[in-house]
Amino acid sequence: MRTEIDNNTSISACPHDCPSTCALEITHDEKKIYKVKGASKNSYTAGVVCAKVSRYSERTHHPDRLLKPLRRTRNKGSNDFKEIEWDQALDIVAENFISTTQKHGTESIWPYFYAGTMGLVQRDGINRLRHVMKYSGQHSTICSTITASGFKAGVGTLKGPDPREMALSDVILVWGCNPASTQVNVMKHIQKARKNRNAILIVVDPYKTRSAKVADIHYPIKPGTDGALACSIMHILFRDNYADKEYMDKYTDDPKGLEEHVKKYTPEWGSKITGLSVSEIEEFAKIFGTTKRLYSRMGYGFTRQRNGASSMHAVVSLSAVCGKWKYEGGGAFYSNADIYNIDKTLIEGLDVIDPNIRILDQSRIGSILTGDRNALVGGDEVYSLLIQNTNPLVVAPESLLVREGFSREDLFVCVHEQFMTDTAKYADIVLPATTFVEHDDIYIAGGHQHITFGPKLIEPIGESRSNHTVLLELSKRLGAQHKGFNMTEREIIDWTLKSSNHGALVDLEKNGWKDVQPDFNTSHFIDGFGHKDKKYHFKPDWSEVGPDYHNMPEYPDYMNTTENTSKDFPFKLVTAPAHNYLNSSFTETKSSQNKEVKPRVKIHSKDINKLGLKDNDLVVLGNKRGEVIINIEEFNGLQEGVIIVEGIWPNEAFVGNNGINTLVGSDPVPPNGGAAFHDTAVWIKPSS
Ligand code: SF4
Repeated sequence: MRTEIDNNTSISACPHDCPSTCALEITHDEKKIYKVKGASKNSYTAGVVCAKVSRYSERTHHPDRLLKPLRRTRNKGSNDFKEIEWDQALDIVAENFISTTQKHGTESIWPYFYAGTMGLVQRDGINRLRHVMKYSGQHSTICSTITASGFKAGVGTLKGPDPREMALSDVILVWGCNPASTQVNVMKHIQKARKNRNAILIVVDPYKTRSAKVADIHYPIKPGTDGALACSIMHILFRDNYADKEYMDKYTDDPKGLEEHVKKYTPEWGSKITGLSVSEIEEFAKIFGTTKRLYSRMGYGFTRQRNGASSMHAVVSLSAVCGKWKYEGGGAFYSNADIYNIDKTLIEGLDVIDPNIRILDQSRIGSILTGDRNALVGGDEVYSLLIQNTNPLVVAPESLLVREGFSREDLFVCVHEQFMTDTAKYADIVLPATTFVEHDDIYIAGGHQHITFGPKLIEPIGESRSNHTVLLELSKRLGAQHKGFNMTEREIIDWTLKSSNHGALVDLEKNGWKDVQPDFNTSHFIDGFGHKDKKYHFKPDWSEVGPDYHNMPEYPDYMNTTENTSKDFPFKLVTAPAHNYLNSSFTETKSSQNKEVKPRVKIHSKDINKLGLKDNDLVVLGNKRGEVIINIEEFNGLQEGVIIVEGIWPNEAFVGNNGINTLVGSDPVPPNGGAAFHDTAVWIKPSS
């Protein structure tokens, strides 16, 4: 069953790795999807989706979709495969896993996944196989770990004021994200506030993104200095009596300690670090201090730094100093991940987790596959990988190390994918995967408050199979016993919804989605914050957040622990998202390729002149991790010394085949890990 609008249009959800999780209206028949639009009746999506997903038919029916299982016939990375039957492919995978277990133990097999689909069954089901078979665990650090660490340190939970309240705000502060490109319906709610209330939009971002271009004020901060900006603003908030002392006495842990702490963080100090002028910092603080309905929408971008968790904590603390959560249309929001309370026992096999099994950091896959003892947590090598929903040869940091690892002749790799990605090219077995319109799933959203059902709308393309189906087939061959392996996707969804007190699947199907936004008092923390003492923590216990807490600051602060520029590495590189790509997805569709054209590095014209170069010249960006060849784009919407490369392009888009993550480090960001994707110092020289 599916939620129909009319005979040939059904409700679904966008499965991509984006906080918007848009509710969709999809026109289709049994074999093909046609139009994809934002669901007009969903109060968050409000009829808006990004252009790349509105062209989804191009992706689902792409001529390059994988249609049959493949077995590699020549060397790794060569893209030479022959078609084989499903049973043969699955037998090869299972036989490898059985023999690897016999030789090296269960932990030498590493199921590896991320958010190529955000559907709970198809994304997270791989954990059930992992837990039943005692394969190595995965610390999922590649996206939200740093952001969540900093937010939780202060707030104690991942929730906040209803994002639809942005329409009721007088100032919307977008800090470190670019919703015009990466979660477009945020702009729709901002637009309502601008139209109905004359609200202003402020964007804090190292460069003039599409969102910054349409903002009333843009603060082009130096990357990684957000904590300093927040501390200087706090200094002014206390100095000029904008701080809400009554609120802080009731709702926060140590306002007096904080006031004393930020006395030294003058706007002059902040100006030197951030590159903003003293008057810009003063202006920002005044707007912040004098606007009750100020909604801070925090993104992931500014936290992808080695000081990212502490920066997030400092930025969120601004709202606590002024008691912004008291007001409708006010407060700070990053994610609603904690409002859903989904019981994932069946999906992930949580009832059979063995706590003694090692957990490997997914961002350190390069170090892990090349035998770094520390990254391997002291255990044996990884000899087999099962990969679903991700493309580590392109998206993981330290790409050259990742490629070296995947080139190991003693490593067996099975990749279940929709397209022949860079990672699939290094696989021994490639299995064709369905897209979201070819299987059933449910979706929750970080950026709003809906649970949405995404039904199977068309027959699978070619011989592609869903992740769930592949896991069931492997479980039979491996002898993996779990109730979840005897159920269909629909049965698991129904059980999960009921066990999570969200009704039954049939109820969800009636509407297509369910709005689970907590009431005002809960989402505005009027009843208290997420910590045991119900207070906002200016002085967090970082040991509760992650094991690497020893050097975290006592109060909101600027940690000078980023990969700073130097004489040898004078430029700070930020690897931002591209408008028409989503991580490495959509790099295969012609319409997106035509709009993005080619990889380019945005450089300030003064830096171009200093280097004796000109627009469109081919240059090499380099550091100790490797070199990337790329064309220059003259761009003055950033500070000198800052450079931007948008998009995670396939490696072959670069001369020399080295993708942009070649330059990015994989050292874990404290206190709980995560990769500092936007924290890279490089040199630039002409390409010979
Ligand atoms: S904005 Fe995000 S969730 Fe919405 S359609 Fe685009 S990628 Fe999907």
